[in-house]
Amino acid sequence: MILAVLKEKAGENRVSLVPEVVKQIVQQQVNVWVEEGAGMQAFYPDEAYRQAGAEIRPRAELLQQADILLSIRHPAAEDWKNASPGKIWMGVYQPLYNATLMQEWADKQFTVFSLDTIPRTTRAQSMDVLSSQANIAGYKAVLLAAYTYSRYFPMLMTAAGSIPPAKVLILGAGVAGLQAIATARRLGAVVEVFDTRPAVKEEVMSLGAKFVEVEGAADASKAGGYAVEQSAEYKQKQEQKIAESTAKADIVITTAQIPGKPAPILISRAMVENMKTGSVIIDLAAATGGNTEVTKNGETILHNGVTVIGNSDLAGTAPADASKLYARNVLNFLKLIIGKEGALDLNFADDLVKGTCITHHGEIVNDRVKQLQT
Ligand code: NAD
Repeated sequence: MILAVLKEKAGENRVSLVPEVVKQIVQQQVNVWVEEGAGMQAFYPDEAYRQAGAEIRPRAELLQQADILLSIRHPAAEDWKNASPGKIWMGVYQPLYNATLMQEWADKQFTVFSLDTIPRTTRAQSMDVLSSQANIAGYKAVLLAAYTYSRYFPMLMTAAGSIPPAKVLILGAGVAGLQAIATARRLGAVVEVFDTRPAVKEEVMSLGAKFVEVEGAADASKAGGYAVEQSAEYKQKQEQKIAESTAKADIVITTAQIPGKPAPILISRAMVENMKTGSVIIDLAAATGGNTEVTKNGETILHNGVTVIGNSDLAGTAPADASKLYARNVLNFLKLIIGKEGALDLNFADDLVKGTCITHHGEIVNDRVKQLQT
């Protein structure tokens, strides 16, 4: 079997496999082909892949001959339109937001695994690309905020007088939010946090931040680790409290997402306009609409003295480690679908294989994507 690592589109610096992981896959008797220069942006040169046992080949050969094609982002139409039926694609294809593309791939008879849909169970943790990448995004969000902010983060007492610590507000204490709290605390900021899941209160407090409670959140215990939409009454209560917190904050980092839906607007235009001049907002939910009313995805804007950075791709700004962790996630998932002597063994009785598979045998087979179509 041939497993191929494609070079990502311009603007994506990560790569699906790193040499250390290639070495382990080759030991499973799988041939690994890597497109020339695929790892360069993440600082993994072709020679390192060669030494790990991979062959460096041109893209056209990969597309024609590989059985499994790895690309973090979905490939360009000219790539997949000419690929032969039966191929397996594996990456982060956001099927809940790309249902039309998934149908086109089903029509092409591709088997598609989208690692962002892996069920959030304990067994899946080592394969959870959303977590491994969100962790980096949370860390980088704080560094970006600190770099952009025109003042210090920590409290400083100097001969020229003292500087108060920055006040950081974090909306959403999932994987990215928790890492953002830890990083902001390490830099000496005072941190306040909102989340609709009261279960995270303890974790937030153990990181030294204050958890702002809003009563009456919708029960998300059956949503597989994800958030659910909130009632109008809850949203109103939350809005009041967030308005009080944003008015005091120097930095706001927003991470709230609801799978398959636009991100909830938690910060209105009026709230941004009521923030202190020089404040900074980093919106990690920008790609699905953003958590503020003024966010522009992929852009940095200055709104009434507040810098608003809409960026959901911050993991890509640490491409070496982001790729390393992503590659380990891929390796752990491959172990579920590659059997003895490197042969493909798709076992759809396994909930992780089933939950991650989007299309197979000409159909959309993923329950969450199918629900969107009804
Ligand atoms: P996410 O990216 O979907 O959302 C980020 C956070 O925003 C979540 O904590 C969510 O509750 C919060 N949020 C959503 N709407 C909000 C609103 N209106 N106001 C305030 N906050 C809001 O979440 P995530 O980081 O991917 O993970 C969510 C949970 O799933 C975490 O508890 C995480 O530990 C768990 N998880 C489990 C596994 C596993 O067991 N395999 C893997 C990953 C995550």
